[in-house]
Amino acid sequence: MSEKLRKINLILELRKYGITDRAVLSSIEKLPREKFIDKELSFKAYKNDALPISCNQTISQPAVVAKMTELLEPDESCNVLEIGTGSGYQTAILSNLFKRVYTIERFKELHENSKEVLKNLSIKNIVFYHGDGKKGWPAKFFFNRIILTAVTNTIPKNILKQLSDNGIFVLPLVHKSSQYITTIKKKNNSIKIKRYWKVRFVPMQSGIQ
Ligand code: SAH
Repeated sequence: MSEKLRKINLILELRKYGITDRAVLSSIEKLPREKFIDKELSFKAYKNDALPISCNQTISQPAVVAKMTELLEPDESCNVLEIGTGSGYQTAILSNLFKRVYTIERFKELHENSKEVLKNLSIKNIVFYHGDGKKGWPAKFFFNRIILTAVTNTIPKNILKQLSDNGIFVLPLVHKSSQYITTIKKKNNSIKIKRYWKVRFVPMQSGIQ
């Protein structure tokens, strides 16, 4: 099967999962996912699967990337904070849909690799940071949108603090011993939590490596 056909099949599958946002689907269709994984795994690039990357981490499943992005309600006038750069795949999708992406990764190796991959794709509206995302962005910033791509048992307070009013935070959060894609919407200093799909993410960890 040609790469073009594999991409079309993936988009059809994402539609079956209920992803309807055209900008999100077209961003996924345009982006070469094979550039974010090991060469030996290239043949799996357009399967709707999570795949291993360096440092024992994973590149998320395309349907999950698409769902979380859709829930962020992409808006070209907004900035977005991403915690867990990993391969940089989700970062690249966000860069097409938002004004600027601020992304944090705790592994130096992944931080450096993703920077290189995105530079080669001529993507320029990303600010990379090697650090512990549990602490939030290392400056007194507020973000209209925040996405966390590692799972946590409790809502990370330092991150939530940096969400602006009327902002949306999308993350995998544990509820009754399962993980769910969750949205947290902030309005007038109160928050509304909503759960969506059951998922499996690698855990959010402290410190840097
Ligand atoms: N969106 C990425 C997902 C990578 S997996 C992709 O599709 O490639 C989750 C990532 O979160 C890993 O790279 C992991 O190292 C990172 N991570 C976990 N805890 C973190 C923390 N406290 N700060 C920053 N990154 C963290």
